[in-house]
Amino acid sequence: MTPRDLEGRTALVTGSANGLGRSIALKLAERGASVIINCTKSIADGEATVADCQKAGAQARLVVADVSTDEGCSKLAEAAAQAGRLDILVNNAGITKHARDHSDLDALSRDDFLNLYSVNVAGPFIMMQKTRSLLVEAHKQTGRASTVLNVSSIAGVAGVGSSVAYAASKGAFNTMTISLARALAPAIRVNAICPGFIGTRWFKDTMSEEQYMKMEAGVAASVPLNVASGPDDIADSALFLLSDASRHITGETLLVDAGMHLGYAPLKAR
Ligand code: NAD
Repeated sequence: MTPRDLEGRTALVTGSANGLGRSIALKLAERGASVIINCTKSIADGEATVADCQKAGAQARLVVADVSTDEGCSKLAEAAAQAGRLDILVNNAGITKHARDHSDLDALSRDDFLNLYSVNVAGPFIMMQKTRSLLVEAHKQTGRASTVLNVSSIAGVAGVGSSVAYAASKGAFNTMTISLARALAPAIRVNAICPGFIGTRWFKDTMSEEQYMKMEAGVAASVPLNVASGPDDIADSALFLLSDASRHITGETLLVDAGMHLGYAPLKAR
């Protein structure tokens, strides 16, 4: 049976209408946390996630807000203030620009960099600014450090992935995680996860089902653990960093990539 160890805590998960954010929100709800779901455009998906969190016995509400704007971050922080407390912030919302050939420098413009940085780096920073006092207050009330989880990427560690701009934004996000962990201790723990591949609409929306299945099989064959991760596989590691099981961990960047960072799968598996 799933433990209800997060009962009484409130969590805000950005970009949680679908994909990894939805999985993290559902697991938080199953463990008893109240959750604030966020999206920009996928309102029907956001409402479905809210309904599924409520089915799991949690309080949940949807806040439509764009984390790349100060107004959007303020709106989310206000929703958390109305909830009465904020114990957990998951900076999950992220965007990319696909330019798979990294040697093609013309595939990216200054605007592409600024767009990606605006959602992937500045957004989480402003979210921290706006929610800091709530997270500190929760620490004062409970004596337990509040937790922030940044959803980064192996791209930010290895300089791989959909584009140079995306990898650079996630690299900045990883450094920001370390800076904030130092700056906000002891009231707030700040950690990051770096997934490798996650089978989400990120890929599914851009190709046919047959192409996707082929790509997924290719990913599984190329990583040491011979698996292609789905949102739930990554969300389980996220929950570790959001729960008391990781109470002595801050400033950590956890690679959750089925061993992708180690290089190719063992020969016997290929
Ligand atoms: P996704 O597109 O399903 O989820 C991203 C979510 O962020 C969406 O719900 C989207 O609406 C939301 N979002 C985008 N811009 C936003 C904004 N300005 N304000 C609020 N919400 C916004 O994709 P996903 O694969 O679930 O990605 C989740 C996170 O995981 C992202 O940060 C991504 O960089 C990271 N990641 C994904 C992969 C992968 O292979 N899919 C790998 C490593 C890391």
